[in-house]
Amino acid sequence: MESEEFECIIIGAGAAGLMCAAEVGKRGKSVALLEHNETAGKKILISGGGRCNFTNLYTSPKDYVGSERHFHKYALAEYTPKDFVSLVESYKISYFEKESGQLFCAGSAKEILNMLLSECRSGEVALRYKEKEIEVVRDGDFFLVNSQKNRYRSRNLVVATGGLALTSIGASPFGHQIGQKFGHSLVTTQPGLVPFLGTDYSKLSGVSIEAEISCGGKKIRHYILFTHKGLSGPAILKISLYWAQGKLLTIDWLPGKKIAPHLKYSDRTLKSILTNFFPSRFAELIAGKVGVDWSLKLGEISNKNKEKLIEFIHRDKFNPLGTEGYRKAEVTLGGVSTSEIDPQTMQSQLQEGLFFIGEVVDVTGQLGGYNFQWAWASAYLCARSLK
Ligand SMILES: Cc1cc2nc3c(=O)[nH]c(=O)nc-3n(C[C@H](O)[C@H](O)[C@H](O)COP(=O)(O)OP(=O)(O)OC[C@H]3O[C@@H](n4cnc5c(N)ncnc54)[C@H](O)[C@@H]3O)c2cc1C
Repeated sequence: MESEEFECIIIGAGAAGLMCAAEVGKRGKSVALLEHNETAGKKILISGGGRCNFTNLYTSPKDYVGSERHFHKYALAEYTPKDFVSLVESYKISYFEKESGQLFCAGSAKEILNMLLSECRSGEVALRYKEKEIEVVRDGDFFLVNSQKNRYRSRNLVVATGGLALTSIGASPFGHQIGQKFGHSLVTTQPGLVPFLGTDYSKLSGVSIEAEISCGGKKIRHYILFTHKGLSGPAILKISLYWAQGKLLTIDWLPGKKIAPHLKYSDRTLKSILTNFFPSRFAELIAGKVGVDWSLKLGEISNKNKEKLIEFIHRDKFNPLGTEGYRKAEVTLGGVSTSEIDPQTMQSQLQEGLFFIGEVVDVTGQLGGYNFQWAWASAYLCARSLK
């Protein structure tokens, strides 16, 4: 079978791959975008609850984690949220700001996917679906890319296959394997933006409380949601980026306030004080944890037990059994190490013409539109630097 030749081949038609293909094509280069699914951008479609939180207006490098603290700065500065918003506005897609700079489609995530596909059409991108079992080999200055159905060759190969979250819609370790095949090191992967397993809070399932959670020096104040299996909600998803197995989390269930002065009213019951601050199911749990009958008046409760109440309310210790895994994670922490990638081009420093963009690399954004912004920015930078 004859190989088809392109100036650039991109593997993975997700957020980063679509953006990169469109930008390469619009610069007049021949480009093929290979995807093993039967359609493109499946994660875009389910993102942001079907409305795609496509960027965050306040994106800054500190909203990302990765082994190298400065790697992502250049890309984020070269392609900003404003640049993506201009593209969205040029397609007359209506959007709204939910909280702290998070932009969502007013209609549906499909509009973002359609916009990217339309950009690909403008760039005459050859979009090839159902390209399964792709293998890549080096042949002189070329990459030979063979799938079950087709053979391709190109001087430039862009790996945009994303992370490991949601294998049910196409996630695979392909990008990590290609990285390793070409000599790149891999930063250990783990699910990120993910709920935690393991508490005895199952009776509280569905209750949500604003709290401050800290782990390894990082503090997050937001809502915690009790689930059947453990803890979730934005505070938990966000702190999961800083957690590793065995690390203890500390939770202040009453951030910004002090419970101690309220425990001095000797003629009031513990129940009346606690239910003043917390949903009654949680208030009852607090009393149970400390082993105090909540119908007692505060004057009848020992100082030792009051200390225990204060300790639990402001410094509760939570040791997760684990996370709900890639099935429930929004992102993958770790990935292809950035130490061997040029931050100004996204090109491998080990193999000329090999690029890594999007979630496959060891750059992970916070909850709130930062991961798509990284996908767009790293894709744009790569497309601009391709020779
Ligand atoms: C439920 C959910 C909701 C999310 N919501 C948001 C949000 O609102 N805002 C936000 O910023 N981020 C969100 N994210 C994260 C965001 O979707 C990702 O960070 C982003 O899609 C990464 O882009 P990417 O192009 O690197 O990878 P992906 O978008 O995952 O694309 C990778 C593509 O490569 C393809 N592929 C994989 N392996 C192969 C292979 N072997 N051969 C060929 N093709 C392959 C995949 O099928 C896929 O099409 C969400 C994630 C999830 C799971």
